[in-house]
Amino acid sequence: MRVYLDNAATTKVDDEVIKAMNPYFNKIYGNASSLHSFGNEAKNALENSRRIIAEKINADTSEIIFVASGTEADNLAILGTAFLKEKGHILTTKIEHPAVLETCKELEKRGFQVTYLDVDKEGFIKNFEDNLRKDTILVSVMHANNEIGTIQNIERIGKICREKNIVFHSDCVQSFTKESIDVKKMNLDLASFSSHKIHGPKGVAALYIRKGIKLKRIIYGGHHELNIRPGTENIPGIVGFAKASQLLNKNEIERTTKLRNKLIDGLLKIPDTKLNGSRERRLCNNVNVSFKYVEGESLLLYLDEKGIAVSTGSACSSQTLEPSHVLLAIGLPHEIAHGTIRFSLSKYTTEKEIDYTIKSVKEVVEKLRKISPIRR
Ligand SMILES: *Cc1c(COP(=O)(O)O)cnc(C)c1O
Repeated sequence: MRVYLDNAATTKVDDEVIKAMNPYFNKIYGNASSLHSFGNEAKNALENSRRIIAEKINADTSEIIFVASGTEADNLAILGTAFLKEKGHILTTKIEHPAVLETCKELEKRGFQVTYLDVDKEGFIKNFEDNLRKDTILVSVMHANNEIGTIQNIERIGKICREKNIVFHSDCVQSFTKESIDVKKMNLDLASFSSHKIHGPKGVAALYIRKGIKLKRIIYGGHHELNIRPGTENIPGIVGFAKASQLLNKNEIERTTKLRNKLIDGLLKIPDTKLNGSRERRLCNNVNVSFKYVEGESLLLYLDEKGIAVSTGSACSSQTLEPSHVLLAIGLPHEIAHGTIRFSLSKYTTEKEIDYTIKSVKEVVEKLRKISPIRR
C-alpha cells in the first residue's frame, strides 16, 4: 500500500486539471501578448483564468496577477511594498513560511526594521497591536500555518491595519480552497496563492493586489501582468491553476475533516503523544503530532518503508537538523520538536489509508521506543 500524506508539501494534479491544460500545450499555444489570432486565443484563456481566481476570493479581475510560485508571490508582496517606501518597520510572525521569513531577513540587512511576533502554544499570534509602530509600513501574517495547521483571525488583523493605513499581506497558500477567502471581508491588501498545493500544476501562483495598492517591481522586462510582473505567461499552468481552484467541494472538505479527526484520535491513543496546533481553528487536512522518546527522522524512514509518506516539519527544513522554527515558536522543547511528524491529507485520502497509517505508526513507535536509549 502506498499512502501519500504529504499534501502540505505538494499535491497530485487532478485529472480534470490535466484535461483542461492539455489543449494549451500544442493547440492553443500563442503568446498572450501577440496581436494575431493565436495570441488572442491565449489571451482569452489567460483573462478567463484571472476571472475565475478573482471570483473565488471576491476580488476584481484587475486585482490578480500571475507569478511562478507562492514564494515569488510572497517576495513580490513584501519586497515590492518595502522598496517603494525605502525605509520603515515591518511586522510579521515567528511561524511564517521561509518565503516570508527569509525575505524579511534580507530587508533587515538593507536597513528595514522587522518584528517577528510571538505565538501562543496553539500558534495564534500574540500582542499584535502592541507591536505596531508609527513607522510600520507592512504587516504580513499567514492565514493558515503549513506545519501545524493553525488558522489565524485574519479579518481582525486586517481591520486594524486598514484603520491605521498599514499595508496588510497574508500568505494564503495553505488555506486556499480549504477555507473560504473573501479579500474584502478579510480586509486584505495583498494575498499569496499557489497552484501546486491545491491539485494544480507546479510553477504557477497568484498575488492579489487590492486596487490602489502600489508595488515596486522586482523583475524587469516587458509589460505583462499589469506592468508589475514581466515574463511570458505560463498559459497551460494558469489554466490548470484556475481549474484546480474550482474543484474542492464542501463534501470533500467534510470528508477530509472526518478523516483528519479519525487520524488525530487514533494517534493520540498511543501513549506519550501530543497534538500540536489548535483542535478547533485548524486546516481540514492537517495533523501534527509529537511522539515522546522517538526521533522524527527515524519514524519517517520506517513509515516510508511501509509506503507511507509524511514529513518532519516543513519540506524546506527537512534538509537541516535544526528543529522546525514553528515548533520552537509554540514552545516545544528541542527533543519533543525532534519527535514530531506532520501528516497532511487530501480529498484523495481514504479511510483504509488512515486505518493503515494509525496501525503502522503505532507499530513503528513501539519498536523505536523499545530501542530508544532516552526512554524513561
Ligand atoms: C508551499 C508554501 C509556500 C511556497 O509556495 P511555492 O509555490 O512552493 O513556492 C508559501 N507559503 C506557504 C504557507 C506554503 O505552504
